[in-house]
Amino acid sequence: MLRDEFHLPPTGIYLCGNSLGPQPKAAVTKLETELTSWRERAVEGWWKGPDGGWLGFHRRLESDLAGIVGARPAEVTVANALTVNLHLLMVSFFRPEGKRRKIIMEKGAFPSDQHAIIAQLKFHGLDPATDLIEVGPPEGESAIRTEDVLAAIHKAGDSLALVLWSGVHYYTGQFFDLPAIAAAGREVGARVGFDLAHAVGNVPLSLHDWGADFAVWCSYKYLNGGPGAPGGMFVHERHHGNEDLPRFAGWWGHRESDRFLMRREFRPEAGAAGWQVSTVPVLGMAPLLASLPMFTRVGGMKALRSRSEELTAALASDLAELRVDGAPLRILTPADPSARGAQLSIYVPGHRPELEGALSEAGLICDYREDNLGGSAGGVLRVAPAPLYTELEEVKRVPEILAKVLK
Ligand SMILES: *Cc1c(COP(=O)(O)O)cnc(C)c1O
Repeated sequence: MLRDEFHLPPTGIYLCGNSLGPQPKAAVTKLETELTSWRERAVEGWWKGPDGGWLGFHRRLESDLAGIVGARPAEVTVANALTVNLHLLMVSFFRPEGKRRKIIMEKGAFPSDQHAIIAQLKFHGLDPATDLIEVGPPEGESAIRTEDVLAAIHKAGDSLALVLWSGVHYYTGQFFDLPAIAAAGREVGARVGFDLAHAVGNVPLSLHDWGADFAVWCSYKYLNGGPGAPGGMFVHERHHGNEDLPRFAGWWGHRESDRFLMRREFRPEAGAAGWQVSTVPVLGMAPLLASLPMFTRVGGMKALRSRSEELTAALASDLAELRVDGAPLRILTPADPSARGAQLSIYVPGHRPELEGALSEAGLICDYREDNLGGSAGGVLRVAPAPLYTELEEVKRVPEILAKVLK
């Protein structure tokens, strides 16, 4: 859709935006603007310069970001990185008390999320063996059934403190029924948080209407913000006025109106910006000024999604025809278009990390990931035709490359 506005590696078809989005051409201009301001103004760059200087730099990203995740501008902010933000928001929204102390999440979640959640449970003196509920797919299947998730939430009932679920599963590419999961969590009185690492900029989201308490994501996958770009977070409006919510505060979350009075008392900015902690990383964020408006310019996530469905469906149907040594491929991603985003996960038995390099040599950049559940000898090739910069003609060339390398 905006292919000409990206730098794409000349060596192959780039279907790896689920891991690192390519560079928007305008990123360099945005970075240069801030480097120039730093060069010419030094400290005065904080209050002079483009859009009033760097003090409110994160504010310049709110409106586009709110459109991408389906939130009000005050409900989103950009800061830190995904796992850090997950910890920060769990400080506020995972408040185990008495019987209500369990967390429910998907089995085989991204390791960083598992580390964070287990660390949080231990931090509260809880035992992951009993206080972490993980819901996986039925034996022999790869997708988790919504009815199983909802049943587990209702079964846990008033012992549940937090539902922490991913939007799109990093390994299988399954897009979960987030509104149903949020509703079930709230029904039993638990808080609800989403990890949207693989969902943001990939599938349409309505965080405000779905009523999640919080959400976190990174900006370097489908948002194309650059390696290690600061992550994003969402805090639902209903929590904005509550200054008593415990949080790990820092001065950048203090009310902007009197932050520089340098007082001891912490008064949070209303909204997600109140969870900011440290000085805004201007240079790390600058490329987002180039990448986020693209989502607005193409007509928002709805328009992007219909293009995405077209590309992914084309890939899925071509892969269904493909035979490697006479056998069809096994795709772990749900075949139902409403239950997947841009990514298809192709199962490969055994331990085959060398496939990544071999495919790259053959002209296809995608990635290989090992199953993290242990025991099952296999991995997946993740192939993701992200609609902002992928052409149908490229998708059409994928099966031939795969056939050559996999056989
Ligand atoms: C990519 C990804 C992360 C990465 O976290 P960082 O803190 O940005 O390094 C975490 N969780 C999930 C589900 C991811 O897909």
